[in-house]
Amino acid sequence: MHDTAGDLVSVVVPVYNELAVLPAFYQRLDSALAEIAERAEILFVDDGSSDGGGAWLLALRERDPRVTVLELSRNYGKEVAVSAGLDHAAGDAVVLVDADLQDPPEMLPQFIAAWREGYDVVYGQRLSRAGESWLKVQSARLFYRVINRLSDVPIPRDAGDFRLLSRRAVDAVAELRESHRYMTGLFAWVGFPSKALPYARQPRQAGRSKWNYWRLWTLALEGITSFSAVPLKLATGLGVLTAGAALLYGLFMLVRTLLFGNPVPGYPSLIVVMLFLGGVQLICLGIIGEYLGRTYDETKRRPLYFLRGLHPRRGGPGA
Ligand code: UDP
Ligand code: MG
Repeated sequence: MHDTAGDLVSVVVPVYNELAVLPAFYQRLDSALAEIAERAEILFVDDGSSDGGGAWLLALRERDPRVTVLELSRNYGKEVAVSAGLDHAAGDAVVLVDADLQDPPEMLPQFIAAWREGYDVVYGQRLSRAGESWLKVQSARLFYRVINRLSDVPIPRDAGDFRLLSRRAVDAVAELRESHRYMTGLFAWVGFPSKALPYARQPRQAGRSKWNYWRLWTLALEGITSFSAVPLKLATGLGVLTAGAALLYGLFMLVRTLLFGNPVPGYPSLIVVMLFLGGVQLICLGIIGEYLGRTYDETKRRPLYFLRGLHPRRGGPGA
């Protein structure tokens, strides 16, 4: 029989200025790892931290032979940090966890149990979002509704990056090298049997969230444009609709003028129609621009990231 205890589980942790929570995070992750039978590797991706977190991680690596530290050349953002971690994880299964303790590391054994049942993707599904504002919760909800209407693959709602991927799922995601990376969508796109594990998302334990509404908006645009061309078709539909309406209105005016003459010149309606059409045209141009800009970025085929340092775990492959 396959020796499951010999399997390696990699835990990938993107870190950007998290020094305030790192010690507590490591402690909780360490006790969670004590609960599992598999060998473990902890892969910290330092996404250009400037708060001394990098040095703390390197010191930790001296104490814990399971720790690998990957230093990116600058801050690339969480999506790229996670991708770099996936590229370098050696495990038979890889678990992605945020460093800020919003994703409880205690769920690790549950993730692994589901993986043993045969699921390739096991993702945490947020039941509640403690500590998040009403506006953030509502905008997230609206976003999932819109993206699922538009996208060809169903994208699970309230699923973040907190998840386990089997080796073949990791290899599949590694082949998607697009520079605009909406990770939840990429994980859904590769398919494979998936299972949701509900959990209560905690407020972050210390430090500050790097998110704001602007980043949320960019992420939403990223998600929609990466997974759907429907907005482009919407522009065509809108054009056909307004042209049709204009034609009908023209006919109406013609008939009315023939029957009753044209006593009042329609200056206000003219201005309204012109402004409205101008606005519609600008919106459509903007939508085309969103896609064009992304196409431009992808054609450059730049590498996703550069490494400043790669400090492999001292435990080595056989340890
Ligand atoms: N993160 C990162 N690079 C960034 C921003 C964030 O690696 O540019 C990491 C961060 O250290 C944390 C995770 O991504 O481990 C989630 O970040 P954050 O808590 O700011 O996002 P939120 O949970 O508020 O969505
Ligand atoms: Mg967080």
